[in-house]
Amino acid sequence: MIEEVKLKQIKLAAYKDLISAEDYAEIEKLAKDLAGIKVVHLNTTSTGGGVAEILLSLVPLLKGVGINADWYTISAPKKFFEITKQIHNFLQGKKGDLSDAQREFYLKVNQEVAADFAAITADIWIIHDPQVAAVIEYHPNLHPSAWRCHIDTSHPNVFVWHFLSTFAQKYDRYIFTMRKYLGPGLDFKKAVVFTEAIDPLNRKNKAISKIKAEKVIERFGLDPQRPLITQVSRFDPWKDPWGVIDAYRVAKKEFPNIQLALIGSFASDDPEAYNIVGDLKKYAKGDPNIFILSNQDGVGYREVNGFQVASRVILQKSTREGFGLTVSEAMWKGKPVIGGKAGGIVEQIADGETGFLVTTATQAAEKIIYLLKNPKIAEKMGRVGKARVREKFLITRLLRDHLRLYDELVQS
Ligand code: UDP
Repeated sequence: MIEEVKLKQIKLAAYKDLISAEDYAEIEKLAKDLAGIKVVHLNTTSTGGGVAEILLSLVPLLKGVGINADWYTISAPKKFFEITKQIHNFLQGKKGDLSDAQREFYLKVNQEVAADFAAITADIWIIHDPQVAAVIEYHPNLHPSAWRCHIDTSHPNVFVWHFLSTFAQKYDRYIFTMRKYLGPGLDFKKAVVFTEAIDPLNRKNKAISKIKAEKVIERFGLDPQRPLITQVSRFDPWKDPWGVIDAYRVAKKEFPNIQLALIGSFASDDPEAYNIVGDLKKYAKGDPNIFILSNQDGVGYREVNGFQVASRVILQKSTREGFGLTVSEAMWKGKPVIGGKAGGIVEQIADGETGFLVTTATQAAEKIIYLLKNPKIAEKMGRVGKARVREKFLITRLLRDHLRLYDELVQS
């Protein structure tokens, strides 16, 4: 049931020019003190979505600084992921409740995962997200450990929060992206708060020329001479892709030649996405200037990079968002970002300085029009945004926060 994700190490030295000497020295010092400890990360998938994206860089960097970091994912029946996507939706505020049978099945799979870990030892366990949070219930030696919640639990469904938080409580620490995600039943003294981060050196974020980016979008039938606005996201109700289409339609009245790309990927733990794509295609009503594309059309890291670089404006119109890596990814490419006033997006976008925070599609449309009409301001916002990401949201900062936590945990 558990599968190890084998990755090569990445050396910290590769990031030396990107971070301050002080931060670099702190990481080296922490890593020296922790050298050789074994840390196990567990989540559900190594492809698709933000958690996989983070671990694909964080685990090799941990290895590179001398931590014996292992990463496991799980394989489970589709039914399990249907239930866990519901748990995700409930924790982000959906009304309703899980049935007893769903709870039982969720626990059964977590018990099986725990059994697979029976023979594996570690100095520290980091368990990601609700899907595998209950493993601690069935694994008595899962200590010291932290539960890393990546989702927006600012307005959770109380029934499902109560169910999940009983497992969360059993960890030595819980890590949230924002303090306001902490809910009832949790001990504030055990809470750790830090944001996610992007890897500036992976293929998605490496600098590419405008010409290269334009070639990418041309391959998918877009016209590089015409303005492009893009949202890159899993196909998920909380990302509000319908609102993005609505905003595009309003902006189109002022800029009739505008193009919209909705770039999404399918993750094995997100079965809901297929229905949403079908629905979006209907919603787009055959508009030839709306491009709904995914990894199944050949959109990989390089292409995501190309679409972001070729865009005049990036949107992330979420109504709930744990962090939203796509916002920092776009800011790193010097793009102004219009984001939903939700969760971790608020932490990233400095409203009016690096982009705009919006609630409605009409507001998003106004800001699209404003940025298309004022390219100099858009460029300046992009520059300020990039500096902000360099300061706050690069993977080296996340590496430092993890090392600080491990240091605390091994001493506890
Ligand atoms: N992503 C991708 N291809 C896509 C759509 C998304 O590679 O077609 C990536 C995106 O670039 C980002 C991650 O998936 O790195 C999504 O992370 P985010 O935190 O924005 O959202 P999540 O999926 O975790 O809710």
